[in-house]
Amino acid sequence: MRRSCKVAVIGGGMSGLVAARELLRESHQITVFEKSHRVGGTWVYDPCVESDPLGLDPHRAKVHGSLYASLRTNLMRPLMGFSDYPFTGCDFGDTSELKFPRHEEVLHFLEAFAADSGLMGFVKFGAEVVKVKRTSPDDELSASWMVKWVQGHQENIEHFEAVVICNGHYSEPRLPQIPGIDRWPGKQVHSHNYRTPEPYLNQVIVIVGKGPSGFDISVDVANAAKEVHIASRSLRFKAGKIRGMENIFEHEVVSHVDPDGRVNFADGFSVLADIILYCTGYSYHFPFLEINNLTVDDNRVGPLYKHVFSPRYGPYLSFVGITSATIVFLTSELQSKWISQVLSGKCTLPSENEMMSSVKEMYDEMEEAGKPKHRTHWLYDKMEGYLDWLAAETGLPQIERWWFHMFDALLKSFISFGHGFRGKLEKMSYSNLLNEVK
Ligand code: FAD
Repeated sequence: MRRSCKVAVIGGGMSGLVAARELLRESHQITVFEKSHRVGGTWVYDPCVESDPLGLDPHRAKVHGSLYASLRTNLMRPLMGFSDYPFTGCDFGDTSELKFPRHEEVLHFLEAFAADSGLMGFVKFGAEVVKVKRTSPDDELSASWMVKWVQGHQENIEHFEAVVICNGHYSEPRLPQIPGIDRWPGKQVHSHNYRTPEPYLNQVIVIVGKGPSGFDISVDVANAAKEVHIASRSLRFKAGKIRGMENIFEHEVVSHVDPDGRVNFADGFSVLADIILYCTGYSYHFPFLEINNLTVDDNRVGPLYKHVFSPRYGPYLSFVGITSATIVFLTSELQSKWISQVLSGKCTLPSENEMMSSVKEMYDEMEEAGKPKHRTHWLYDKMEGYLDWLAAETGLPQIERWWFHMFDALLKSFISFGHGFRGKLEKMSYSNLLNEVK
């Protein structure tokens, strides 16, 4: 028999919205808690930055968003939609033909998705969840969840059978340890607090990290900076000036920094720099969650069965959007379908022991392959198998292959053209692009 559960969804970003839609489709009763005053999460551009540019002060007033003003997506338009609600038809003036939409268009898409899916009436805005805990001791699985939230100056409490956590993971800066940094005199900023190039006029900047943000911010800030030096573990070419970029240089990692302001790279080069800009990623953070059976250890959230369910609490505690290096929207959609069907009884979960064994197997495989803990939720080469598994589990037809072909084409282009990948792909038709990877 199908069950309908009372479910709290924490977060009204992309993951919370698609989770809400799937839960409603399975006839659950939902409340979406959103601490801000609109839906869209990360995609709501916030020009404000935090008072502590490194995000180290736990008492700082926090800003959720990490978008910079010029941001365009790093996935192509068709990969930014849901399986049955594609990212097309957005009326966004003359940018609506861009293969890599601007951030405003993604927000517009999510707002339209929320309205068209009838979700707005289920969202409590300005409602920050501050505590989630079991109503009785952990060993009693019959217990429910107590959710405490603050709205204005009012504290409220409500009980739910299940909690789906969708609070995002791009707000808490993650920083590397650099020898000598305590006595380095320059300014340090994390990309969470980067918005526009103007404050960096004529400065010599070292960017640490060359993931998607490091890559894009280096080009953006180079419009104002005197020199931009990127330090990364994944130096693909010989260290030196990047072809076609007047003032951007690539290096190996920063080996140490000196009290006179010098930054030294492992390739032997050094530079007197004004600013170090860390594009070193973010930490998972669940400050409201008060349970014993889940930890965040070096960015491994665990144990989590298939990155979604806590084996201890089974269907009643789940996470959407923990995974990265994937087709993000589609992944959150499939995870949400799975959660909704497990809660209604359409799908069943293995026993707690079996889920724990599966988690351990994944950890062992990672260790054998020499993969660091902080890559636990990085799907990348496992993405296709993972998404196909989720689709099969939830009774969907096989995912159309173009999703994966387009993702592969994008990665190849990124590897071949580096900073110029968007420019190259904007000029190609989608069909030519797909033919190239087949
Ligand atoms: P979020 O969008 O972060 O939403 C979380 C929501 O939860 C927020 O609205 C927040 O206010 C709310 N919340 C948090 N804590 C609480 C609480 N305690 N109580 C109540 N509400 C709470 N993805 C792509 O697919 N393509 C891209 O090109 C791309 N580019 C990106 C560029 C940058 C710079 C960043 C930072 C991310 C990018 N992403 C991209 C990933 C992006 O995070 C996802 O697309 C998507 O926004 C994730 O949605 P989410 O709902 O999981 O998290």
